Amino acid sequence: MNVVAAPRKPDIESQKPTAPDWAVELKGLTKIYRPTGKGAAKHALKGIDLQIPRGSFFGLLGPNGAGKSTLINILAGLVIKTAGDARIWGFGIDERPRQSRAAIGVVPQELVLDPFFTPREILDLQAGLYGVPKAERRTDELLAAVGLADKGNAYSRTLSGGMRRRLMVAKALVHRPPVLVLDEPTAGVDIELRQSLWKYVRELNRAGTTILLTTHYLEEAQELCDTIAIINNGVVAACEPTPALLGRMDRKELWLTLDRDLALVPEGLTRYHTELVDRRRLVVRYQPSRDHINEVLGAIQQSGLAITDLSTNETDLEDIFLQLVRASSA
Ligand code: ADP
Ligand code: MG
Repeated sequence: MNVVAAPRKPDIESQKPTAPDWAVELKGLTKIYRPTGKGAAKHALKGIDLQIPRGSFFGLLGPNGAGKSTLINILAGLVIKTAGDARIWGFGIDERPRQSRAAIGVVPQELVLDPFFTPREILDLQAGLYGVPKAERRTDELLAAVGLADKGNAYSRTLSGGMRRRLMVAKALVHRPPVLVLDEPTAGVDIELRQSLWKYVRELNRAGTTILLTTHYLEEAQELCDTIAIINNGVVAACEPTPALLGRMDRKELWLTLDRDLALVPEGLTRYHTELVDRRRLVVRYQPSRDHINEVLGAIQQSGLAITDLSTNETDLEDIFLQLVRASSA
């Protein structure tokens, strides 16, 4: 997976003097699913405002049912929005549907592939659909890029889940869109393939493609994305550069393993949030902005504890996420 071409911005570029600041821009995006029969309408998106910077690796993070796929599917033209405004590469999805569609490649959450076509045929059909001239097609290059060079002529029903996912990625890239959207791409992909998928997507991003990734795996967003928006219940709970989001939680933990049983938290450590997890394990919680690690370590040393092991636990996205979700559903 190392064949990366810079995204082509074909007729899109010629119609825009400069590339837009925002690869995707949403204003008040609203979706209400109305049931055909009985049952309540579902307010899946409640006025989403979001700006996805050109060139970013942007994470849309939220629990199941948050509205991630609804948002993506509106961009993909698969779901009709109820209200609000969506622009892709500067083109309104209502006013300029052809251009906005050409600017984006979407790998949907559900894997839909015709089982009787081969990967090569699937990519060729997609290229035809997007009007990519024969001479500009790069089927072999794409197949190689997603590690399916030797599967070009196999029936897609014989491909594993991970291979299908990667074929979907190739399919989304056929028309060289400047924006690539991946909706929960890790589902059903084993760890090894996941690594190569991320490697390829990272290379695309480095070569200039804006990546929008949805996930409910916090570690994934934390590791990959430079900016993260958290959505819950159809509302944006946070949107910040990843380090800023992580920095918001000013809390660290030191886990101490002791060589003998302890009944009480030592006097000198009570000024931190210290807790005896069990007789041989102590967790010291402190705020890096207030308490310097040296002071904390000094206090531990002065307490005279015999420590056999020490580990730290940084606040991760999980904590922030739970905090924000609690706050936004309160
Ligand atoms: P996510 O991708 O974050 O898991 P979705 O966008 O799939 O969330 O769903 C958001 C909400 O909208 C959920 O409550 C879901 O049940 C509801 N929903 C999604 N698609 C439909 C649909 N076609 N009809 C009715 N409700 C839907
Ligand atoms: Mg979804």
